[in-house]
Amino acid sequence: MSRIYPLPVTLVNQIAAGEVIERPASVVKELLENSIDAKATQISVKIVDGGRQLIRVSDNGSGISPEDLILAVTSHATSKLRNAEDLFQIHTMGFRGEALASIGAISQLRLRSRQESFDAGAEIDVHGGEVRPVQACGTSPGTIVEVNNLFFNTPARRKFLRTTQTEMNHITESFLRIALANPHVHLTLEHNNRVVHDLPNTDHWLERLELFFGRELIDHLMPIESKDETTRLWGYVADPSQSRPNTRWQHLFLNGRFIKDRSLSHALNEAYRGLLMTGRFPIAFLQMEMSPELVDVNVHPTKLEVRFQESSRIYNQVVSTLRHHFLDNDLTATLETEKDQRPTSAVPPYRKKESLPSRPALPATSGSHEPFSKQYTSHGGPTDPNQKATLPTEHPSSETTTAPQSSDSDPFRIDASERASGPHPQNAFTPKHKAIQLHNAYLVAETPDGMTVFDQHALHERILYEELRERVLQESMETQRLLIPEVIDLTPSEASIVLENKDSLAPLGIEIEPFGGSSVLVKTFPTMLENLSPQLLLRDLIDQLEQKNRALESRDLIDSLLHSISCKAAIKAGQHLSEEEVDALINRRHLVDDAHHCPHGRPTSLVFTKDHLEKQFKRT
Ligand code: ADP
Ligand code: MG
Repeated sequence: MSRIYPLPVTLVNQIAAGEVIERPASVVKELLENSIDAKATQISVKIVDGGRQLIRVSDNGSGISPEDLILAVTSHATSKLRNAEDLFQIHTMGFRGEALASIGAISQLRLRSRQESFDAGAEIDVHGGEVRPVQACGTSPGTIVEVNNLFFNTPARRKFLRTTQTEMNHITESFLRIALANPHVHLTLEHNNRVVHDLPNTDHWLERLELFFGRELIDHLMPIESKDETTRLWGYVADPSQSRPNTRWQHLFLNGRFIKDRSLSHALNEAYRGLLMTGRFPIAFLQMEMSPELVDVNVHPTKLEVRFQESSRIYNQVVSTLRHHFLDNDLTATLETEKDQRPTSAVPPYRKKESLPSRPALPATSGSHEPFSKQYTSHGGPTDPNQKATLPTEHPSSETTTAPQSSDSDPFRIDASERASGPHPQNAFTPKHKAIQLHNAYLVAETPDGMTVFDQHALHERILYEELRERVLQESMETQRLLIPEVIDLTPSEASIVLENKDSLAPLGIEIEPFGGSSVLVKTFPTMLENLSPQLLLRDLIDQLEQKNRALESRDLIDSLLHSISCKAAIKAGQHLSEEEVDALINRRHLVDDAHHCPHGRPTSLVFTKDHLEKQFKRT
C-alpha cells in the first residue's frame, strides 16, 4: 500500500456529488428544496437541453447575505442545523449543507442572491469546484442559481445521461414532487423557452392535483383523513375503478417531503385487497404529518427514503383509515355486484386460471361493462367465445402445419393456445398414459382419443411461463439471496435501462442495485432459475427492455420478460430427456392446456385423433 493522503476539497466534493447528483433532475430537486426552505412563494425553473446546458432556479425567498455566499457553496456549511439534537428535529428539506458545494464541483455554477433588507445583491461563481470571488450585483430580493454544463468535468457521468426527453421526464418528476407537496407556492417550469407547467398557488390541494393529473382522475378521488396521538394522515385515494399497473401513482408525502416507502405502499395495496384485480395498484395522494423526532430523514443520500420510529403503527393507520372509508361508503359491496355482472368480459390476463369462469356464460353484449373491460381486453385476453373460430387463422403459424389430405374437419388440429376452453377430451390424459421422446426434440403421448405430439422446447417454455406468471401474480416468486451478490459490468446505457426498469424486475425475483459507474449488483434471483447464470439472463432481459417501447405498461413489460425468461430456461431441442423427465413434463401439460397465453404464438402440440388415424389407414 502506498501512503495515505487527505483528499483535496474539490475531489471530496466531486465524490459527494456522485452520491447526491445523479442527473440533472437531482440538481432541480436540490435547488427547489433550497427555495422551499427559504420560504419562497414564487419559484421558476428554466431548463435548456434537458438540463445538460442550463438549469436555472430563481425564487423570491429570504435570500443569502453577501458574507454568507462563500459558505453557501462550501460543503458541510448550512444555516439549517447547529448541533446533534437538531438532527432529530429537522423542519427543513435540506440540512447537510452539501448540495451547492457538490453541484459547484461538477458544473459552472453561479449563485446570485439578495436579502430584502439589502440594497443590492451579490454573486459568486464556482467552476468545477474552483470558487471565484464574491461580487456585488443588481438583483431583486431572492435567489437565482444557474447551473451551466453539468458534469462538464466528469465525462463518465455526462456520457451516462440519456436523451433530452428522458432527462426532461426525470426533471418533470422532481418538479412534480415539490409542486405537489407545496400547493401554496406558485411554480413554473420552462424547457427550451417553452412553458411546460405554470401552477398558480392555491389553498386547495385538489386544484394542484388536477393540473397534473386531469379532471377525469380527480372526479374519482375520495378524501380521507385520520388522526391519532402522533400522526395526521390525510389526502385522496382513487376509487377502485381507477388503478394502475404499478405503484408509481402512489404519492406519499411526509411533513411536506415526497418519500418512497415500501411498507406504506404495501399498506395501500393491502387496503385495496379484493377491490382491484391482481396486478393492478391503487392511486393515492397521501400526506402524513408527524413530529420530526418520530422519523429519521438522515438515512438516504437524497432523503427519498426515511425511517419511521413506529412503522407498524403507521402501516396500520393507513390500512385501517382506508378500510373504514371503504366500508362507510359501501364500496366493497358495489364492486362485488359489478364484478358479478361481468363474468367473462373482464377476465384479466393475469387472473388465476382456477378462477376463470366457464366459457358459455358470456352475455350477448358486453358494451355496458365498457369501463372495466377496457382495462383488460387490450392485453388480448379472450373475452368472447365467438372469437374462437377466427383465432387460428389469425395465427401465421397455423398455416405452417397443414394436414395432408385433410378433407373434413381439421384432423391435425393445432392446439392453439387461444382456445382457452379447457382441456379437450381428445388431449386430456392422465399421467399413466405413455409418452416417448423422439429425435431428442419431440414427445409423443398417448391420449384417450388418439395421440399428441409435443415440441419439447415449446411445451416446457409454456409450462415455465405459466408457472412463473402464477408466482408473479401471487407475489410468491421464491427467490434466493445470492451469497455473494453478482456484480455485472454493463455499458452506461444498459445500466440505466436496467435501473430504470428495476421495479419491473423485482416481481420476477431479480433484485438489482446500482453499483457505481455502469455496474449493477444482482442481489436476489428466482430459485426456479438457479441453473441460469444471472449475468446471461440479465443481458437477455436488457435486449428485451431495449426493444420495448418505453411507454409499455409494466404489466406488459413483465409479461414479455417472463416470455424471455421461460424461453431461456426451457430445455432445448436436441436435449435428451430421461423417462422421468419426459413424464414430469407431460404431467405438467395441464398448465398449458387451459392457459390462454402463448409465449410466441407457435403451437406446442399437434393432435391426432383416433378417428383420423383410422381414416388414414382406411379402417373406416
Ligand atoms: P442545505 O440546504 O443542506 O443547507 P445547500 O448546499 O443546499 O445545503 O445550501 C447551503 C446553504 O445555502 C443553505 O443552508 C442556505 O442557507 C443557503 N441557500 C441555498 N439556496 C438558497 C436559496 N434559494 N435561498 C436562500 N438561501 C439558500
Ligand atoms: Mg439544500
